[in-house]
Amino acid sequence: MGATKPRSETHTVEDTLDCKAADAVRHAQPPIETDAIQITQPAHVAAGVKSVLKAVEFTLKEPGLFRGISALSHLNHFDGVDCPGCAWPDPDHDRSLNEYCENGVKAIAEEATAKRCTPDFFRKWSVSELSRRSDYWLGHQGRLTHPMVLRSASDHYEPISWLDAFTLIANELNSLSNADQAIFYTSGRTSNEAAFLYQLFVRQFGTNNLPDCSNMCHESSGLALKEVIGIGKGTVKLDDFDLADTILIIGQNPGTNHPRMLATLQQAARRGATIVSVNPLAEVGLTRFKHPKDVLHLFGSGTKIAKYFVQVRLSGDLAFFKGLCKEILEEEARRPGQVINRGFIEQKTSGFEDFQAAIAATSWSEIVEQSGISRAQIREIAAVVMRSKNMIACWAMGLTQQRQAVATIQEIVNLMLLGGHIGRRGAGVCPVRGHSNVQGDRTMGIWERMPDSFLDKLRDLFEFEPPRRHGWDVVDSIKAMHRGDAKVFFAMGGNFLSATPDTEFTAQALARCDLTVYVSTKLNRAHVITGKRALILPCLARTDRDAQASGLQFVTTENSMSVVQSSRGNLDPPSDQLLSEPAIVARLAVATLGSRSRLNWMQLAEDYDRIRDLISQVIPGCEDMNLRVRKKGGFYLPNSARDDEYRTKTGKARFVVSELEPCNLGPDQFRMTTLRSHDQYNTTIYGLDDRYRGIFHGRRVVLINPKDMDEHGWKPGDRLDITSHFRANGKEELRTAPRFVAVPYEIPRGCVATYFPEANVLVPIGSVALRSNTPTSKAIVVSFVLSECLDDVMEDQEVRAAR
Ligand code: SF4
Repeated sequence: MGATKPRSETHTVEDTLDCKAADAVRHAQPPIETDAIQITQPAHVAAGVKSVLKAVEFTLKEPGLFRGISALSHLNHFDGVDCPGCAWPDPDHDRSLNEYCENGVKAIAEEATAKRCTPDFFRKWSVSELSRRSDYWLGHQGRLTHPMVLRSASDHYEPISWLDAFTLIANELNSLSNADQAIFYTSGRTSNEAAFLYQLFVRQFGTNNLPDCSNMCHESSGLALKEVIGIGKGTVKLDDFDLADTILIIGQNPGTNHPRMLATLQQAARRGATIVSVNPLAEVGLTRFKHPKDVLHLFGSGTKIAKYFVQVRLSGDLAFFKGLCKEILEEEARRPGQVINRGFIEQKTSGFEDFQAAIAATSWSEIVEQSGISRAQIREIAAVVMRSKNMIACWAMGLTQQRQAVATIQEIVNLMLLGGHIGRRGAGVCPVRGHSNVQGDRTMGIWERMPDSFLDKLRDLFEFEPPRRHGWDVVDSIKAMHRGDAKVFFAMGGNFLSATPDTEFTAQALARCDLTVYVSTKLNRAHVITGKRALILPCLARTDRDAQASGLQFVTTENSMSVVQSSRGNLDPPSDQLLSEPAIVARLAVATLGSRSRLNWMQLAEDYDRIRDLISQVIPGCEDMNLRVRKKGGFYLPNSARDDEYRTKTGKARFVVSELEPCNLGPDQFRMTTLRSHDQYNTTIYGLDDRYRGIFHGRRVVLINPKDMDEHGWKPGDRLDITSHFRANGKEELRTAPRFVAVPYEIPRGCVATYFPEANVLVPIGSVALRSNTPTSKAIVVSFVLSECLDDVMEDQEVRAAR
């Protein structure tokens, strides 16, 4: 059921331009569809036979049997296709025939689909009509086959030649009054080769405006870890999990977001390691798991994964980890020299005394109140930590998207340092990355704040002066577009509108651009909320065969554990019109820079070995890349902290001190987190079910503690309007999203959960993590009212759009 009225088909050019921002608001959100939603009991076990059946269903529905098997037979194999899903690593040595999970199959099915989104499709569907379709529907129209342009005042995309498309972009870029008026976004699917060329082009063009999806996920991890252990990446390898006796899984739902991690955790649990989940929801993937490849156990009850579930309040993690540190330090005071690793602390760390004093000064009442965890449970988990000889701490966006994310990650490192759980085998920190090459893109220089040492190398090798002024990250890019300071937005992949916070504000920002450009494989909502003019540039996907002038090519990616490996597509591309991402960057650079660049861009795009030769000369650790990446499984990038070397300002691993902040909720207010469903990967909606949580046929739901529901008189299935509350510049900002279906769920009292991107509209652009500027999608203050009838809701949306 659509909730908005059609756009007028009779507006003038001026009307179109004036109305663009208002239209963008009206069409920014997916339509409200709640009628079909069914709620059942959450599942008791993850994966198993259902997972196999789902994988088969998705394969048959999208690529079909032959193409599907052809793609899957190469997935995650040595010299095969690196899964375009998450960044969980593949085994270094032995890999099985089916080295993938249900969500990997879904990701491949999406890419390898037999459906096509051709110029005929765009002739039939106007942008207005497309904007009233759900993200799920948009994503299932098939692979894009031709470059398309949306001209000013037009409501239909139409085909455009590649030459005209690049000329249009180049003219727009070259007519800007300065290079900083352009923004160049990167999604985490982009290969190392494309990313390296892209940042080089952008810097030769003259700006560091290189926001990326990392700004919205592990920016907090990178910043926190760099300060305290000297490197902004995780320190463990996959085989460290074989040696760990304790594994903390914090703010992470591996069953849905990094499914093959469950196989690693299953092995650890079976050999007796203690797994502790620290998360507001006790997710089923960490409860019990049946490995789909383990035929003998496929019909049993599965393996118990987490021994302990610590259901912290949203934003309560910092208090909980302070509680663990306090408990351990108090025990050390009772049994001096027997609890913490004094030798490691003295030789390898700095700042211990200040940290110890700060923890002693933090009261137990504050810790218990803010974490929502009893003193008894803190003591119980502290006992596990104190017994541990080898501990690994993993986390994901449940931590990184909180206001105190950086401080919380550093508190986890404090805990690790107390036991010396870093810089040795079987122990360390493991921020688990989302998109498959999000870490590699950073390594290649996709960052708005690359250090001078990197820029100096670009200067020396490519004979140009790179810009030194820091660029805008995602949040600042949106604000700049909204102010009118940025006029061209270019996205190398991704679905910027649905991935970012404050959907209506972001839609207005994009609508104020003169030109928006997306390099894409499939249609998404970002293509229908555009600047005054827009382009869609269709590109090869990871699974497509990539033939260039010098022959078939492969690209490389870097996984969560810093392994650089090759990925070689094996399927016929869906159209002979598609260009690879490196080819798109090269042609864009030639069109835009002309004689300003001395680089032979087209030669680079003809043979990716030439790009890798350049990477070898610029990126530390990538020396001899062409040779080393051709070895089975690729190569590890250097990791100083893994090797017990801490390149911090003290030359040691650093204990740091942070303060708890009071979390004041008004009466009838809750803290809201956004989540992914099991049929979702980032902004890609594979299906409308979340079978692990027992939610089917729809996504517009809000999970609420049953006692909170009773207290407010809400019944399961009630429709609730959600309002978020945020104070900025002394004023309260309110944002509203109507008509979410109330679902009773086991979540701490005072906390609620919704799916993104549906709830992104509630995340204020100004609500960011301290220092990392990451949107705080895991801690939004909200309140509820029962929805009125749908007509009133529609009217509200129209009124809001008109304002
Ligand atoms: S765990 Fe991640 S990388 Fe591996 S197959 Fe599944 S989605 Fe792909």
